[in-house]
Amino acid sequence: MSDIDTNKAPPLAGVVGFPIGHSRSPLMHNYWLKRYGIKGYYIPVSLSPADFVAGIRSLPKLGFKGVNITIPHKVSMLGLADNVTDRAALIGAVNTIAFKEDGTIWGDNTDGYGFIQNMRQSAPDWKAGSGPAVVLGAGGAARAVISALLSEGVSELRLANRTRQRAQLLADQFGAKVQVIDWHRASEAIDGAQTIVNTTSLGMQGQPDLSVSLDLAPKTATVTDLVYTPLITPFLENAASLGLAAVDGLGMLLHQGVPGFELWFDHLPEVDEGLRLAVLDR
Ligand code: NAP
Repeated sequence: MSDIDTNKAPPLAGVVGFPIGHSRSPLMHNYWLKRYGIKGYYIPVSLSPADFVAGIRSLPKLGFKGVNITIPHKVSMLGLADNVTDRAALIGAVNTIAFKEDGTIWGDNTDGYGFIQNMRQSAPDWKAGSGPAVVLGAGGAARAVISALLSEGVSELRLANRTRQRAQLLADQFGAKVQVIDWHRASEAIDGAQTIVNTTSLGMQGQPDLSVSLDLAPKTATVTDLVYTPLITPFLENAASLGLAAVDGLGMLLHQGVPGFELWFDHLPEVDEGLRLAVLDR
């Protein structure tokens, strides 16, 4: 008989996606494990859509406490989880799961939380309720941002997306505080906005630049870009050159990882400069 007591095995967690090689989550969680001296492991797991359900179900048997879920599985995970948080249901996707002792799977979505925590840490004077918000883009990331901004007290949210119909679907879901703006009028929608968010993939390495002008933004506006490769996008460069507060998207990625780490490794981790450098250094 084996003398290995599996109950005493170090906790395991990881990130499940397909492909998974691009994920920065292992750098982040392994930095925290080392920094806090925790004997645990965080592992990238590649699971194709065909293997997803069986693969996820096998993880608790292997000793996993839970995992992050990334592209392309976030929506499928919503259907597979036994219980999900209200915010995950609202966003329509799950990015963090825990395997419970009763055999059930609990799911959450921490993207909106990460977005808000990043704004608070990087722009301490920023207040969601201080005025209108403009959200550019209506994809998966926009859902998390819109839901978080509304729950933080934004009373007017102007939403512009290249495909107007996708913006309209989100407005229908999130209610009358969300107004759809034509994509070609996005620069006008910036007038009077206190929070301006790029959730499109424009400005990312290899993608065209985002050509929305910030000239009409009030001097008190805070501008953020979810794109973090490059860390300072041309959109953020423009914001800074106009004297506006500019918040990069790396912090959102780092903050969204906090709840999972705490859940699996029982320690509330900090997002600090050391972590930023560890995740950027690849
Ligand atoms: P997605 O669901 O594929 O949505 C992409 C968005 O970009 C859509 O609104 C799309 O408009 C728009 N878009 C793409 N190409 C465009 C173009 N040429 N002109 C105008 N609009 C264009 O992707 P996502 O998951 O929301 O992610 C969006 C970006 O956010 C990515 O760069 C991703 O890396 C980043 N992100 C960052 C974090 C973070 O933690 N910082 C978290 C999540 C995502 P259409 O609807 O018209 O196609």
